[in-house]
Amino acid sequence: MQANYNPGEKVENLKQIDPEVYQSINDEILRQSDKLELIASENFVSVAVLEAMGQVMTNKYAEGYPGKRYYGGCVFVDVAEDLARERAKQLFAADHANVQPHSGSQANMEAYFSFAKFGDTIMGMNLDHGGHLTHGSPVNFSGRFFNIISYGVSRQTGYIDMNEVEDLAVKEKPRIIVTGASAYSREIDYKAFREIADKVGAILLADIAHPAGLIAAGLLDSPLPHCHVVTTTTHKTLRGPRGGMILVGKDMENDMGQKTPKGKIKKISQIIDSNVFPGFQGGPLMHVIAAKAVAFKEALEPEFKVYSQNVINNAKRLAQELMERDFQIVSKGTDMHLMLIDLRNKELTGKKAENVLERAGITVNKNMVPFDDQSPFITSGIRIGTPALTTRGMGEDQMKEIAGFINKVLNDPDNETIIEQVRSEVYDLCQQFPLYPALK
Ligand SMILES: *Cc1c(COP(=O)(O)O)cnc(C)c1O
Repeated sequence: MQANYNPGEKVENLKQIDPEVYQSINDEILRQSDKLELIASENFVSVAVLEAMGQVMTNKYAEGYPGKRYYGGCVFVDVAEDLARERAKQLFAADHANVQPHSGSQANMEAYFSFAKFGDTIMGMNLDHGGHLTHGSPVNFSGRFFNIISYGVSRQTGYIDMNEVEDLAVKEKPRIIVTGASAYSREIDYKAFREIADKVGAILLADIAHPAGLIAAGLLDSPLPHCHVVTTTTHKTLRGPRGGMILVGKDMENDMGQKTPKGKIKKISQIIDSNVFPGFQGGPLMHVIAAKAVAFKEALEPEFKVYSQNVINNAKRLAQELMERDFQIVSKGTDMHLMLIDLRNKELTGKKAENVLERAGITVNKNMVPFDDQSPFITSGIRIGTPALTTRGMGEDQMKEIAGFINKVLNDPDNETIIEQVRSEVYDLCQQFPLYPALK
């Protein structure tokens, strides 16, 4: 029997039952469609992904893994989770995939505790230089539970300073080296990181939350052949539902002698799985896992490679157009989907720039730049990225136009007439690239 599933009817129900939440969702649909989304970590999922997320698998408890659950009635959620795992493995040429982490942060927590214990040393990229909160910020679990040492980028080039990475690793002997970032626009040399990790006996973890989709599309080097473990989100360039995932490239017995109850040395995948559940999570979000499977299917299609190439082309073009308008891009360009603008030559803070662009219909986030002298609440930069606008179908011509908008607004940030004028041009541009027409 076919399930009676009618999204239109569901919206009507929500409207009747909770008009306030209904209204907030409708307003959000309009905000997403009528503004230029340049937040580098955001994207627009397909209607198929939305549909998979908004269904009855949210009702199901499925602690454990497919075929080994602690609850009955898991036969159909097992199908969805197996599809997600198999497709993830295929996308990244991985030996093993755990698709249960609720978020990227949780994936990192689970991966760290698979190989390190409280107080151990973890080496990650400095947040101010582009790293993520979970790579050792003192306000995050990572900085509170572990002894953190941080590497950064070179002041001259804006590229990761591999000599500094090596010197620090040799001196501090970290248990885990974390590579990957949230605001770093250059490819990472995973092979060089692995050589350093091997030299000091560290586990190498790549956090590909940002470039995951571009790596899946084969456009950036994969960390899988070089790293012991790889964590990611599923909702950034990978364009899936909000969530996390942990991958293992070449599965092998761990070097810490962690044993199974039967006395066998555990493989890395076994350690990861038991740290996700029961280590850190209870029931997996089965509706989100189903939606991950859908997104992975989409990412395996040839169109996704075309999309991802366009994301990169758009970012390179936007960076170039901005540099021609006297904006300073950290490292003078990008290899991927994002860039960091250092606004110090404009005598403008990141906070002010984010605010005034928002009023002109352009959504970005303020961001620390390397060697920033402002606080994280003010900052000297903004981070921008192209995954979301590329999903709408925008191309290089639009990037040029958008660089012009940003230039106009930021060069005269207190001019209300300009803000108003750009806002109306942004609105017109957005109408040419409709988003979710069926949902409005
Ligand atoms: C976004 C991001 C995360 C965290 O993902 P959440 O799902 O927001 O918890 C982790 N690491 C990096 C590098 C990220 O950019």
